[in-house]
Amino acid sequence: MPVINRVAAFSDEVAAWRRDIHAHPELGYEEKRTSAIVAEKLKAFGCDEIVTGIAKTGVVGVIRGRKNGSGKVIGMRADMDCLPLQEIGDIAHKSTVANRMHACGHDGHTSMLLGAAKYLCETRNFDGTAVVIFQPAEEGGAGGELMVKEGLIDRFGIREVYGMHNMPGLPTGHFALRPGPMLAAADRFEIEIEGRGAHAAKAYEGIDTVVVAAHMITALQSIVSRNVDPLKSGVVSVTYVRGGDAFNIIPQIVTLRGTVRTLEPQVQDLIQARLTSVAQQSAAVFGARAKVDYRRGYPVTRNHEVETGFAAEAAKDVMGADHVQTDIEPSMGGEDFSYMLLERPGAMILVGNGETAGLHHPAYDFNDAAISAGVSYWARLAEKRMPA
Ligand SMILES: [Zn+2]
Ligand SMILES: [Zn+2]
Repeated sequence: MPVINRVAAFSDEVAAWRRDIHAHPELGYEEKRTSAIVAEKLKAFGCDEIVTGIAKTGVVGVIRGRKNGSGKVIGMRADMDCLPLQEIGDIAHKSTVANRMHACGHDGHTSMLLGAAKYLCETRNFDGTAVVIFQPAEEGGAGGELMVKEGLIDRFGIREVYGMHNMPGLPTGHFALRPGPMLAAADRFEIEIEGRGAHAAKAYEGIDTVVVAAHMITALQSIVSRNVDPLKSGVVSVTYVRGGDAFNIIPQIVTLRGTVRTLEPQVQDLIQARLTSVAQQSAAVFGARAKVDYRRGYPVTRNHEVETGFAAEAAKDVMGADHVQTDIEPSMGGEDFSYMLLERPGAMILVGNGETAGLHHPAYDFNDAAISAGVSYWARLAEKRMPA
């Protein structure tokens, strides 16, 4: 495989960093050990500037090219946080912390971007500035948004920004992306149904929130099938039902929670409005009340057309055109890299993780066979976008 030779030569070293980070996972905004390792390595590589403490535990490294006449500044982003999950895989570098696990491969993302920083510091074969961004708290903590709020883009003068995520099921050495929506907007909702508690033997004296919840859950499933244009995309999932403590009491309150995923603002607005109305009206039918708390989360991760082309060309340069899919279907997962793409043009690319357990599965492990391709992609992207 035509990865960059110099990168292939030190990919075992990158794998060793990856396994060390894997063994010591840290949740969002708690990535103290990880970010200290990142900062220390960036220093050892000879980064021109290293800033720590952006968005609490975030780290940014600045690498200036051999030439700096172009004025170009390219941001390249990785995430560092783990998940609250107990690892079940039997591997040498298994997590040493109970209920903490790198089940999304952010250990791999961090290590690959470190590998790219090492290569770019050594070679500096570009005209401009490469900014390597190590963000905290991707898994629900919106670390990417906080970095943007704390001035990431302006402080470093970033003009374009790129992200990478591994993808189980896509062979190693393969890349995939698309222009437009790559990942969905991820919203969450909580519905509190209040009826009237009663003895279960005298249900007629109460308002049965369990029956209301059952009808409501079914009715909510009509939104995507009956209200959303069938040629557009939406997901409504009720993932949590809580109510009652006994077999002979009708509970006063039942709480539902869930998630909504969409790819377009119009569909997002529609589902939010319908979900609220369906919840309130279906409660009213039975004389109950529903309080709906709908919160918008990560926006759609929308790849910019031109920069998607740049990213695809860099990937093709490394692995060949037959290893790069440029028209994959969007995923209904979410990503807070989306906040960076709202600020500057750029693209997120998927790198193959081979036949491993899925993301967020307790047996998942980032595939070190992906490292050479991933690091080479980053390196080539910087060199191609800022030719010396
Ligand atoms: Zn994840
Ligand atoms: Zn992830």
